[in-house]
Amino acid sequence: KAVVIFIAVLGIIAIVALVTTAVLQNKPLQQKFKYGIVLDAGSSHTAVYIYEWPAEKENDTGRVKQKHFCQVKGPGISSYSLSPEQAGHSLRLCIQEAVLNVPRRRHHETPLYLGATAGMRLLRMENQSLCDQVLGSVEKVLQSTPFDYQGARIISGQEEGAFGWVTVNYLSDRLKQGSGTTGALDLGGASTQITFATNQDETGESAENTVTFRLYGNDYFLYTHSFLCYGKDQVLKLALAQQTQAGASTLLDPCFNQGYSTNLSYSSVYSSPCITTQKPLAAGEGFTHRGTGNALQCQEVVRRIFNFSGCTFSHCSFNGVYQPPLQGQFGAFSAYYFVMNFLNLTSDTLENNMEKMARYCSTPWTQIKQQFPNVKEKYLAEYCFSGTYILFLLTHGYNFTSDTWSNIKFIKKISGSDAGWTLGYMLNLTNMIPAEAPDTPPLPHA
Ligand code: AMP
Repeated sequence: KAVVIFIAVLGIIAIVALVTTAVLQNKPLQQKFKYGIVLDAGSSHTAVYIYEWPAEKENDTGRVKQKHFCQVKGPGISSYSLSPEQAGHSLRLCIQEAVLNVPRRRHHETPLYLGATAGMRLLRMENQSLCDQVLGSVEKVLQSTPFDYQGARIISGQEEGAFGWVTVNYLSDRLKQGSGTTGALDLGGASTQITFATNQDETGESAENTVTFRLYGNDYFLYTHSFLCYGKDQVLKLALAQQTQAGASTLLDPCFNQGYSTNLSYSSVYSSPCITTQKPLAAGEGFTHRGTGNALQCQEVVRRIFNFSGCTFSHCSFNGVYQPPLQGQFGAFSAYYFVMNFLNLTSDTLENNMEKMARYCSTPWTQIKQQFPNVKEKYLAEYCFSGTYILFLLTHGYNFTSDTWSNIKFIKKISGSDAGWTLGYMLNLTNMIPAEAPDTPPLPHA
């Protein structure tokens, strides 16, 4: 009997061994990934994005995904103009995270880019030499990483707009279909971009607003414009400068909640290249900024920072800038999303949103603070102004109406990756979107 049991156990062991070997042999090969890193050096902050894609499928749309995100502590690099060394230093923690998030054997072949946007465009206008020192400082740190550093530069407003459009359409897998693309609305702290596909004949009026791409065998004629100084932080300075022209010691501001009060220096408002008016002559060092919380009056404040006269084209948005008629769906991201999401304005009609906005603006400041104890006070205080500005920009500025309002989707991510210019920028620089559609595999023989 013992012999029979022994033989049975041996048999079972043999079967288990055979099955295990078979399973292991059929195990799919371990997927190999490649990586790319882009630093978005924005006006208010720098963010590091790590992207990942299967090594053999570089040209396949929708294959590149955001693997990791790191927000650099502290302000944007343009704020380090008086201590440029600190600009590079500020990136170190996020770079260390990146080193841990990309497998070591891939480090040397992982491209690393830094693109700076409107904060640095403004610093360049103010002081080219300080701007170069800040870029030099970040360059020094990025060069010392184990990655394949490809350069740090200030990207143009057209690039920012166009690559935001590429990102949105790549992630929503629209590029291979050749029609029905989504426009991109991007709002930063210092500039704002609008980009959408138009007919070729619409692009003829203004060459500086035109970008053409050939992607996967389809031609795209894009209208794009970047409004420098119309990001939400610079536009607030425009509004404050315009309201302090009389030089009074107190500014009663309808775009801030009743009960809100803070002391501001004139230099914090007037020392930006966006502000072309002079600080009022008789004024002292600063003024008290006091809220009165009135949405209708706030709209009038906002209206005054737009110029609707002097269009020399067939159609304009504002400030004499050409804009063809809006076409198709739009994705609105970055600060559009932060502000509209906080105010609960992402999925309602334009009319309801105007009402909600009026209610937020007229809520007393003490109540707002009590209601949202965990939200940064600076953001809370500015939501009445920023929300009013966004609604005004989209309607009076770009010409969205009650009927076309629902064409705008306020988004943060698409399929797990953030909407923004960085992914499109990397796809372009790594030639990951071919001009022609990749060959389809030949049909098998019958
Ligand atoms: P930039 O740094 O140029 O990309 O601009 C980003 C803008 O978004 C700045 O105006 C920031 O203050 C703003 N921002 C970031 N997070 C939030 C938030 N949670 N609520 C409101 N505004 C935000």
